[in-house]
Formats: sequence, C-alpha cells, structure tokens
Amino acid sequence: MRHVAIIGSGPAGYYTAEACQKQFGDAVRVDIIDRLPVPYGLIRTGVAPDHQSIKAVSRRYEATALSDNVRFVGNVTVGADVTIDELRGLYDAVVLATGAPADRPLGIPGDDLPGVIGSAAFVGWYNGHPDFANLDPPLAGPHAVVVGAGNVALDVARILAKTQGEFAGSDIVGHAFDALGTHRITSVTIVARRGPHEIAMTPKELGELAHLGRAAPRVDPADLPPAEADEKLDPGMRKSVAHLRSFAATGASAKPVAISFDFFAMPTAIEGDGRVERMTVERTMLDAEGRAVGSGEFYTIPADLVVSCIGYRTPPIDGVPYDQRLGRFANVDGRIDDGLYAVGWARRGPTGTIGTNRPDGFMIAERIAGETIDDSGKAGRDGLDALFVARGTDVVTFRDWKRIEEAEIAAARDGSPREKFTAIDAMLAARAL
Ligand SMILES: Cc1cc2nc3c(=O)[nH]c(=O)nc-3n(C[C@H](O)[C@H](O)[C@H](O)COP(=O)(O)OP(=O)(O)OC[C@H]3O[C@@H](n4cnc5c(N)ncnc54)[C@H](O)[C@@H]3O)c2cc1C
Repeated sequence: MRHVAIIGSGPAGYYTAEACQKQFGDAVRVDIIDRLPVPYGLIRTGVAPDHQSIKAVSRRYEATALSDNVRFVGNVTVGADVTIDELRGLYDAVVLATGAPADRPLGIPGDDLPGVIGSAAFVGWYNGHPDFANLDPPLAGPHAVVVGAGNVALDVARILAKTQGEFAGSDIVGHAFDALGTHRITSVTIVARRGPHEIAMTPKELGELAHLGRAAPRVDPADLPPAEADEKLDPGMRKSVAHLRSFAATGASAKPVAISFDFFAMPTAIEGDGRVERMTVERTMLDAEGRAVGSGEFYTIPADLVVSCIGYRTPPIDGVPYDQRLGRFANVDGRIDDGLYAVGWARRGPTGTIGTNRPDGFMIAERIAGETIDDSGKAGRDGLDALFVARGTDVVTFRDWKRIEEAEIAAARDGSPREKFTAIDAMLAARAL
C-alpha cells in the first residue's frame, strides 16, 4: 500500500489522484486536502461563471473523488492546521497542488490605491471565493482599465461588459450579479505591453467579444502588422489575430460600452486623490528579442477601476524549498525532495489550460512508483485522522461537500445552476441542512 497526500483539490490535484489510481490500482490510499470546504480549485473560483461547459470538467474529478481509495479532506489548511513535516511523517508521498492564488503586483507607483485590484481578487469576487466575498470593487465610474494580454484579461473585460440578461445560465454569485447589473461603466480598456502578435488570448474567448449585447470591441488598425506577417503564426494565433483584424475593420459601434485594445502600452503610474482616477502609460516598441521597451512617449487613461491580470505567484509553505524569482516551489520535473512533489501551477507557474495539468499528475504518479516503497509502514489517513481528533479539526468530507452542493443548487436564482455560498461558516452550516 502507498499512502499519498495531495494538497489542493484543483485540476492538478485530481489529475494526480486519477493517475495514482491508474498506477497503483487498489494498492494506494489518496487524501486530497483543501483549505476550502469545497473542492475543485479554480474550476469553481477562477473559470468564468458564463463558461459552464468548461466548469463541467469537475464531473470527471467527481468520478475520481467517489472511488473508495480517494478521500476529500476539506477545510484543512496545510501550513496552519497541519504542517508539511507532519504530512511527510504520515504519507509515503506528499504532492503540492496548491496552485498560484496570489496576484503579482503591478509594481508601479500608485498600484496600492483603492480601486486597483488584482485579477485573483476580482475573479474570486464574482466567482464566490470566500477570501474575496467582501471586495466590493468600485463600479460607479465610467472607466475600467484591465491590464494584461491573456484570457484572464478577456474574462474580466467580458464580465464587466455583460448585461444581467447575458448572465442567464451562469453561476455568477448574487452580489456580483447585482453590482454588475447596475454599474455605469462605458469604457473597458485592455492595456497590453506588446502587440497583436504577442497576445496570449485564444480565438474562442476573443470571438465572444463580437457578440455582446451592449458592448463592442475596438482595435486601432495602426497597431496591426501587415497581413502577410500573420502567415508565420501558428493556426491558433492566426485565428486570434484574425478576430483582432475584424474588430479593427468594424470600426466604431453604436453599442454603449467600448472594449478598446490599447496595444504597445506599458503602465508606469497610477494616480488619484485617495482612489484610482487615471493611469499613465508609456508607448512601447518591440526590441530585437521581442521585448517591450519604452518609447519615451507617455499618455494618460482615465480609470475608475483597474484590474491587473498579469499573473500569479504560489505562496510559500513552511518547510518547502521555494524559488523566489519564479514565485513557485523549487522543483526539478516536479520533485522537490524525497517523497515531496509539486504539480500544476504550484510546479510550473500560472500557464496553460486545465488539461495542461494532466500530464503533471501522470509524471508524479510514475515518480512515486519509482521513488517510494510499498508497505513502508507509514500511518497514512489513520494517522491524519488521529491528529485531527486530537486537535479538534473540523474536517469536511466529500459527502459533506455534496450536501453543500445540494443546498447551493436549491438556492439558485432562476436559470442559474447554483447560488454559491461565499462564506466558510455558511458552507460548514450547510452540511446540516
Ligand atoms: C481567472 C482564470 C480563468 C481560467 N479559465 C480557464 C478556462 O476557461 N479554461 C482553462 O482550460 N483554464 C482556465 N484557467 C486555468 C486553470 O484554472 C488552471 O490551469 C488550473 O486551475 C490550475 O490547477 P491547479 O490544480 O494547479 O491550481 P488550482 O486550481 O488553483 O487549485 C489549487 C487548490 O489548492 C488549494 N490550496 C491552496 N493552498 C492550500 C493550502 N495551504 N492548504 C490546502 N489547500 C490549499 C486551493 O484552495 C485550491 O483548491 C483559468 C485560470 C484563471 C486564473
């Protein structure tokens, strides 16, 4: 028997559990520990609420979760309720699948002004993450600025631009549904340091901008390279750039909200009297290596809200070697130390799609097979349970989660699949409903 503890119940955690099942069959016991009482990581709290078909991947994880040799151990924070050293004493392998939940700061003067928000916080707010339920982002002014050139920036811009009617079928939480339905935003500016050929935005997400009820995308034709240059792009990027070309060709729209792409623009300062009012940006050029360098030309964009979507870091955990420069656990191909591994965003940093995390899980299961021994005599889940009993830790099981989920489904507003609990206490109380 192998005893495996996986820290984090997002895609990387569940793919690792699935891979361990395939690798060891019945000869493995896997505990998936999460700090929240609810599973699935960013599938629940990151993936956009109006992208339900993507969120449906959690059904696959449920099949893994419901097998006898895999347990969900929710409401337990590793590093606070139990230490890494304790887990290493109890399990043959400890796998960190804690993701990268901390926003990278913009690192410019004024980035701490009220109204400047990181995407983990803003996305967590509209997706019901308990850490950000009370964020209350400023939505009263007309100008929103979104910094970044990836799909998270597109998610944020789209969510800001949608009408309440366009959230039908989504599980956007009630507080965000109400606030976004009544705001007065008329401009959403997406600020990107480099150009249309350097975006990390995918065609499907870009294409959605052309079909919004009250908003239309705008691209300055002057920012686009000559059409022949698109031939050197891979097919996905070519499609993305084709969307940008069609936005540029469409020109001005009668729709009341403009989503404007401001390419070759590097934020240099955020200013305002007690809250964000404007952002100064420097026009950029690309150097020979394709990096953005300042041109010396500055201009100002009005901003009542700034959401920065420029990447994330993995918070360190006591007892785990950490790479400060890269903002993730120090590892070589997932191995941190004997019996200690990292997968997913905690291993690679915040890149790739949900599916990109799957090979990580399979690589680690193979490593566990080669680098740990069968029947080592470690106590595994019995030892963890004894520790929790001694400490009075209130653990949430997968069965508890299913009760929480039932209560969320029962509370859904018309046309929505669920109304998520946004407070830990409410989640815990829902177990008894
Ligand atoms: C806004 C946003 C939108 C996205 N949209 C898409 C999309 O549409 N399609 C797509 O393919 N990909 C999307 N992604 C990417 C996808 O969500 C990630 O690839 C994936 O979630 C990473 O998986 P992970 O398991 O490494 O981390 P996570 O999903 O972040 O899971 C980490 C888990 O660890 C838990 N945890 C953290 N610290 C501790 C601790 N100390 N103790 C216990 N538990 C802990 C967390 O609570 C969480 O449940 C999106 C990402 C973001 C940020």
